[in-house]
Amino acid sequence: MEQNEQKKTVFSAVQPTGTPTIGNYIGAMKNFVAMQDEHDCIYAVADLHSLTVDIAPAVLRKNVTEMTALFLAIGIDPEKSVFFVQSHVHEHAELTWILNCYTQFGEARRMTQFKEKSAKAPENVNVGLFDYPSLMAADILLYQTDLVPIGKDQMQHLELSRTIAERFNNRNGATFKVPEGVLPKYGKKIQSLGNPSAKMSKSSADANSYVLVLDTPEEIRRKFKRAVTDSDACIRYDPETKPGVSNLLTIYSAFTGKDMAASEKDFGGKDYAYLKDSVSDAVIEGLRPIKERYEKLIADKAYLTAVMKKGAESASYRARRTMSKVWRKLGFVRP
Ligand code: AMP
Repeated sequence: MEQNEQKKTVFSAVQPTGTPTIGNYIGAMKNFVAMQDEHDCIYAVADLHSLTVDIAPAVLRKNVTEMTALFLAIGIDPEKSVFFVQSHVHEHAELTWILNCYTQFGEARRMTQFKEKSAKAPENVNVGLFDYPSLMAADILLYQTDLVPIGKDQMQHLELSRTIAERFNNRNGATFKVPEGVLPKYGKKIQSLGNPSAKMSKSSADANSYVLVLDTPEEIRRKFKRAVTDSDACIRYDPETKPGVSNLLTIYSAFTGKDMAASEKDFGGKDYAYLKDSVSDAVIEGLRPIKERYEKLIADKAYLTAVMKKGAESASYRARRTMSKVWRKLGFVRP
């Protein structure tokens, strides 16, 4: 596929570490679909990234297939966008090594995600976990990306990708586009239902604190019923003093497409039980078509394999173009 020079290039990826939460969906994946018509989009399953935490081979294998089906189920169209699996394009690993040499130890050490994940699993503080931002920079810079739709938690890594790109360009001449992060209007950081001061994350020990995009309607309703709110019984958007209620309003806005003022208006004079019911309805309805498409797609392994293959070919072609520039600029003798 020829690169479309008119449109801006978009790249983003999601790790195959299990079914995504509605946080992943609202924060990043919903934007992937929205950007598809106007931009030249490239999306990936970041399987190399998932090795930075303990993951069993059988689980990784299953997750990559499931994540592929899910990307298509949310609306990624492999005819419009390039969709591929990161490890199928070896240039990601090659560029990571090079970018390691353009990343300062002190920069990587300051990353919040590294500190948090190290504290969570002190028995497995591997060098890959430390190096995660260089791999992420390689993912983005390989495709001469303009825009990167991500949640707020990835913004620090994106900033480091920009620093690495600028440093490389300054030393070697213009090589990489310097990308910009794109946050969603509502939901750049969806909070945990059990602890609204923390991010919603599927790695949380409390399974009721997150909603997965493939949860059943009963599970969704039960989790929202238990969501922590406050005692002041007034429904308004105020993340500072009312983080739980504001989080529910944000989820409601993201799923209904209403702006925050309209969402607040829907709940004038209503109680928290009504709010939780309405949020559940909106999420269940929003996820229903995704689940239906997913069930069909996951049963068609041959189609999923064909999509991965075609995507890898398109992505490889583009990645090779950037890599040949990188090798040349750095003075490598090529075969
Ligand atoms: P990951 O599972 O780390 O690959 O994340 C995939 C995408 O989801 C990234 O762009 C994250 O920034 C985004 N994301 C993860 N958790 C949340 C959350 N609770 N709220 C909003 N975005 C999120």
